[in-house]
Amino acid sequence: AIDPNFAESRERTPLAETDLDIDADYDVWGDVDEPDRLGIHGTHVAVDFDVCTGEGPCLENCPVDVFEWVDTPGHPASEEKAAPVNEAQCIDCMLCVDICPVDAIDVDGS
Ligand code: SF4
Repeated sequence: AIDPNFAESRERTPLAETDLDIDADYDVWGDVDEPDRLGIHGTHVAVDFDVCTGEGPCLENCPVDVFEWVDTPGHPASEEKAAPVNEAQCIDCMLCVDICPVDAIDVDGS
């Protein structure tokens, strides 16, 4: 499961300053070492890419389309991840947190 204290326990890096080829402008938390370690993506809506198994109930059910698929070839948990590319649109409904089968998502909505 994602560590909800990631903002205290991990270093923040703007996505554009990582080697990841993802078209978004959120921050990444923790070390990135492709393909095995991809970090936690996003801050208000945070997805631990190293936990995500790419099943997609968050992406399919988010009422405001916060998530988009990104390819992560060679990652041990799954070769695509739900990236919170539109995290600023989140309305804090907590649906994604509740339905993620591997508890990969933390939403700081309180
Ligand atoms: Fe979407 Fe709701 Fe999750 Fe926010 S909390 S990303 S609105 S499903």
